[in-house]
Amino acid sequence: MNIVFFGPNGSGKGTQGTIIKERYKIPHIETGIIFRENISKGTELGNKARAYIQRGELVPDEITIPMVHNRLKEADCSNGWLLDGFPRNLNQAVRLNGALGREGVDVDVLIQIILKRETAKKRIMGRRICVNDSNHPNNMNFAAIKPDGDRCRICGGELKKRHDDQSQAAIDQRHDIYYDTENGTLAAVQYFKDVSDRKGIPAIVELDGRNNVEEVTRELIEKLGKFKFQVS
Ligand code: AMP
Repeated sequence: MNIVFFGPNGSGKGTQGTIIKERYKIPHIETGIIFRENISKGTELGNKARAYIQRGELVPDEITIPMVHNRLKEADCSNGWLLDGFPRNLNQAVRLNGALGREGVDVDVLIQIILKRETAKKRIMGRRICVNDSNHPNNMNFAAIKPDGDRCRICGGELKKRHDDQSQAAIDQRHDIYYDTENGTLAAVQYFKDVSDRKGIPAIVELDGRNNVEEVTRELIEKLGKFKFQVS
C-alpha cells in the first residue's frame, strides 16, 4: 500500500505515521528526518539543506525531489511506503505523480489530518522531544500530555526542543507553506484529490486533528480498515 500523509507541523502526523508503519509493515519515509540525519552526519546533502531548514524554508526541489524518488526505489519500498513531509508543494506533487505514473505505480491512499493553523502553532510551541524516544508525547500546552516537570512523562528522559521549533518566525514560515492553497502543501493535497476524482484512486482519508492522539488513531484505523488493503 502506497500512502501520502499530510498534516501541518503540530498535527501529530509523526505519531500516527509510526502507527501506520507498524500496522502495514511499510517504511515511513519522512523527508524532515532524512534531512536532519544528514545534517548530524555532516553529509553533503545535510550541508546543502541546513540553512533552509533553520529558516523554516523548503529545501529546493532540485535537491528534495531526486532524494525522495531515489529513496522510493530502495528494496524496502517494494511492498509499499508511507510518504510523510513530501510532497510539500504543488510542483513536488506533480513531479511525484508523473514519476510514479512512469513506473506504473499508484498512490493508494491520501491521509490528511485537518487542523486549524492557530491550534497547530500552539501545539508546536509547547512540544518537547524525549532524547530516548522521539515518539513519547510531551507538550507544555496540553494537560493530557504535559511533561513530568522538565522530564519525559513516559520514561523520565531528558526533554529537548526541536531545533527548528525554537523560532516563531520559522514556525510561521513552515505554516505559510503548509496552508498555501495556491502552490504550497494544501495545493499538493488538492492535486491528489483531483487525481482521485478522475481515477478513483487514491482513496481519501480525512482525520480530525483536534482530537487527542488515541482518538485520531482510532479514526485512522477505522477508516483505513474499510479499504481492502492487505495487512502483512
Ligand atoms: P519536518 O520535519 O517535516 O517539519 O521538516 C523539517 C524541514 O525539512 C522543513 O521545514 C524543510 O526545511 C525541510 N523539508 C522537509 N520536507 C521537505 C520537502 N518535501 N521539501 C522541501 N523541504 C523539506
